[in-house]
Amino acid sequence: MSQATIIDGKAFAADLRATVAKQVATLQKDHGLTPGLSVILVGEDPASEVYVRNKGKATHEAGMKSEQFRLSSDATTQAVLAKVAELNADPTVHGILVQLPLPDQVDAPAVLGAIDPAKDVDGFHVINVGLLNTGQDAMVPCTPVGCLLMLKHVVGDLTGKRAIVVGRSNIVGKPMAALLLKQHCTVTLAHSRTVDLPGECRRADIVIAAVGRAEMIRGDWIKPGATVIDVGINRIERDGKRKLVGDVAFDEAAAVAGAITPVPGGVGPMTIACLLKNTVTAACRQNAIAEPA
Ligand code: NDP
Repeated sequence: MSQATIIDGKAFAADLRATVAKQVATLQKDHGLTPGLSVILVGEDPASEVYVRNKGKATHEAGMKSEQFRLSSDATTQAVLAKVAELNADPTVHGILVQLPLPDQVDAPAVLGAIDPAKDVDGFHVINVGLLNTGQDAMVPCTPVGCLLMLKHVVGDLTGKRAIVVGRSNIVGKPMAALLLKQHCTVTLAHSRTVDLPGECRRADIVIAAVGRAEMIRGDWIKPGATVIDVGINRIERDGKRKLVGDVAFDEAAAVAGAITPVPGGVGPMTIACLLKNTVTAACRQNAIAEPA
């Protein structure tokens, strides 16, 4: 039986997207500036196609300039780099996103490293990683930003909270830990070699699950009243039906936690909304304009 507050990521995302649309309208009216996001898709991965389509639609709906560039699945690293260079040089493009994963023959670190850090709305460039980890203004990866916005809304001041991030990837776990540290949490960054993961989780006021293992984090790993943010997206089959589940056993955890994000409808919608937010931030910084409220 659920007792936790269910954190409605869809509603949060709708609010954030409405705010971004207002900011875009203000930038157009006051500065003649239309933020622009360009997405490069290499190959025909079906999940990537859906993500790119959704990003394009959301960008367009926010009133921004939205472009998608498709390269064939046998594209060379040089071809992708040439497109990145063209977009780096285009002043109407404020954000560049290369949809991952890239085909094997493309040197992904070289491509991500070639994006102008000021236009790196995914926040994967080492310059942005360095800025984030030294507490400076960075472009921060969208998923952790979305998690933090929801957390701050639910918990308020995070100072002194014990937080555990389960998963240490460059795109979710590590930047999430850096953001929580910046909020003065005491942060544990756990991974596949962590000893006694249930015990580590039980000490935490905040649990962020970014593992990619269906329902791995059980209800009895959660401290009563804790806030649980589930980043995981896992496709499983149950009772003959295909289903999306998170990294947290939702029903069990919801009976113990104070608040929890569902999957779907939690972190996922916030990721795209934060991409729009990052694009506005990038456009303002590139034009030395204060970000509208
Ligand atoms: P990665 O596969 O890159 O990283 C997974 C991490 O989980 C690794 O650090 C790994 O540890 C750790 N891990 C794996 N098994 C265990 C275990 N048994 N115990 C503890 N830690 C473990 O995944 P991502 O960070 O890219 O993604 C994580 C999840 O989040 C996925 O389900 C993905 O689909 C989802 N996701 C959702 C997004 C959204 O918008 N909602 C956006 C991005 C991702 P080690 O480093 O030791 O191998």
